[in-house]
Amino acid sequence: MKSHLIFIGAPGSGKGTQAGKFVADKGFKHISTGDLLRNEIAKKSALGLEVKKVMDEGKLVSDELVIRLLQANIDLQSSQYIFDGYPRNIAQAQALDSEVLKGSPSISVYFEINTDKLVERLTNRRTCGNCGAIYNLISKKPKIEGTCDQCGGTNLVQRTDDKEDVIKNRLKVFQDTVSPVLKYYQDLGRLVRVDAEQFPDVIFNLISSKV
Ligand code: AMP
Repeated sequence: MKSHLIFIGAPGSGKGTQAGKFVADKGFKHISTGDLLRNEIAKKSALGLEVKKVMDEGKLVSDELVIRLLQANIDLQSSQYIFDGYPRNIAQAQALDSEVLKGSPSISVYFEINTDKLVERLTNRRTCGNCGAIYNLISKKPKIEGTCDQCGGTNLVQRTDDKEDVIKNRLKVFQDTVSPVLKYYQDLGRLVRVDAEQFPDVIFNLISSKV
C-alpha cells in the first residue's frame, strides 16, 4: 500500500502548492483542515459560526472539533491522502495515528523555510474562489489580472486571515507548536525535511521519490 502524506509547514511555506501538484499528477486527495473550516464558515453552519472568531484571530480551533471534521470527510480505504494543516500539535499527531490512520502507512514532510520571508508571501497570496488555485501578486501572477489561469473564474480573493497582524500571530502559533510534532515523527522514523525555498518542481520531485 502506498503512503499517505502529512504536510507540515508554516503558513505560506508552499504546502498548498505542492498538494495541488500531487493531486493533479499523482491522484492524491488533498484534505486541508483550514479549507474544511473555511467551508463551514462559508456555509454559515453552526460549526462555522463557532470557529470564525478564532480563525480570524489566527488562533487554533479546538483539537476535538478538528478531528471530528477530519473523520467526517475522509475515506482512507478509497484514496491516498495529503493531510495539509493537520496535525498542528502533538495531541493532533497522536490522534491522527490512533483515530484516523490506524496503521495505514504515512510519511510526514516538513517544509523548512525562513519565516521572515513569509509575511510578504502571505500578504500577496490570492486564491481562486471558484477552483482554489493559489496565486501570488509578486511571484506568481495570473496571466490576466484578476482572472484564474485554471478555470477562468474572476473571483481571486485574499483570505481574511492573510492580513499582516493575523499572519504574525499565525506564524507565532506555528513556531510555538511545531517542534514536538517534528520530534514525534522523527522518533518514529517517518519525517522527511525539504528545503521549501527551492523551486516547486524540485520540491515535488524530492517528495515524489519518498512515496
Ligand atoms: P490554514 O488554512 O491551514 O492556514 O488554517 C487556517 C486556520 O484554520 C488556522 O489559523 C486555524 O485557526 C484553523 N485550523 C486549520 N487547521 C487546524 C488544525 N489542525 N487545528 C486547529 N486549527 C486549525
